[in-house]
Amino acid sequence: MNEFTQTMPSRVVTDRKSAIYLDHHATTPVDPRILAIAVNAMTSEFGNANGIENVHGETAAALVARARQQVADSLAVEPDEVHFTSGSTEAIQLALAHAVASKDGVLRVAMSRVEHRAVIDTVCHAERLGLAKVFWVEVDQHARLDFASLNAVLDQGIDLLCVMAANNEVGTVYPLEQIADGAHAAGAALLVDATQAIGRIELSATALSWDYLILSGHKIYAPKGVGALISHSFDPTLQFGLQGAHQPTPNVAGIAALGMACRIMKEEGNAESARLGALRDRLQQKLIALAGPVTVNGDENNRLVHNLHVAAPGAPNDLVLARLRGRVSISTGSACNAGAQEPSHVLQAMGLAPDVAETCLRIGLGRFTSEEDVDRAAIEIADAINDVRKTLSGVNNA
Ligand code: PLP
Repeated sequence: MNEFTQTMPSRVVTDRKSAIYLDHHATTPVDPRILAIAVNAMTSEFGNANGIENVHGETAAALVARARQQVADSLAVEPDEVHFTSGSTEAIQLALAHAVASKDGVLRVAMSRVEHRAVIDTVCHAERLGLAKVFWVEVDQHARLDFASLNAVLDQGIDLLCVMAANNEVGTVYPLEQIADGAHAAGAALLVDATQAIGRIELSATALSWDYLILSGHKIYAPKGVGALISHSFDPTLQFGLQGAHQPTPNVAGIAALGMACRIMKEEGNAESARLGALRDRLQQKLIALAGPVTVNGDENNRLVHNLHVAAPGAPNDLVLARLRGRVSISTGSACNAGAQEPSHVLQAMGLAPDVAETCLRIGLGRFTSEEDVDRAAIEIADAINDVRKTLSGVNNA
């Protein structure tokens, strides 16, 4: 068998054989159940969902309709509120473009300092184009929203408030009900970036009201390149810029996979969260026991269950990651900041001193993480931290 004759993988291969994958905030492996749906949509039911004059097109259109229903069911919205995109970034851009197009004049946009770059860069770009004006909402040292700052900003008259459901670096979960109440009372629309939170916290429209909700397949075990904008007000035929003039051929495989991913999250999300929460706590305890002074970042009382973000004083994270390379895959922060010389904007907004920020490690557990993985990773990460500290203290004392 060579790479061209190889058939569908029967198990999840998360990384090179020996490396433990703990970077699930960056992306997730595709769940084999979801892979089977995607492969079927590419090989058997591969028609063009826009070309429904033949059975192949009809079957593909039915797959898209089923996925739309599955995504809608997982959030308790109507299927026509689901607009498929290539991922969260495109969904954010569409939502912003729609909000700008719906406003007569400059759109007044408030956002928290710890939003993902996909939101910050898009809003700031709109400001540079003269389409928007930015208002910043501050956070505290745990990346929790500062409500005094939020209220002060809302009092200035805001059209759109952008707040993530949970932070992609330190895992802090935001009180969306309270935020939505405040935004709507002030007459502002609400954009919720749920990329990291979907299936992991309650987001259904019956519990919460938003105007735009953003999600991405590759954070919930579907392939990269598919996501959705959920909105009752968004009109895909509305033409802003050159968008909306023609409906592209749907990415049927990705869309079908996203539908299944949402269904699995709806059915198994609670049980999965309970399992991952226990594993994360185990990893945290072991790491603290083995690696001496380690502090946990984010809101310890309200953070994503699969997130562990730590500072390991005296152990710069680039040196720790170099020692872990090929053994444990974790990161220093958001995939979008990786390799950047600047400390993450999230840690800066939290007020972390630069010398602490440069020792931070982001660890993300996932569906296929086992207790054995966690125990091995705790030892590997602690060894790396201790080794870096020892080496540097040797250098400093020389
Ligand atoms: N928003 C958040 C909170 C994210 O974590 C990410 C990706 O890391 C994005 C948006 C961008 O998502 P995508 O990769 O689907 O464009």
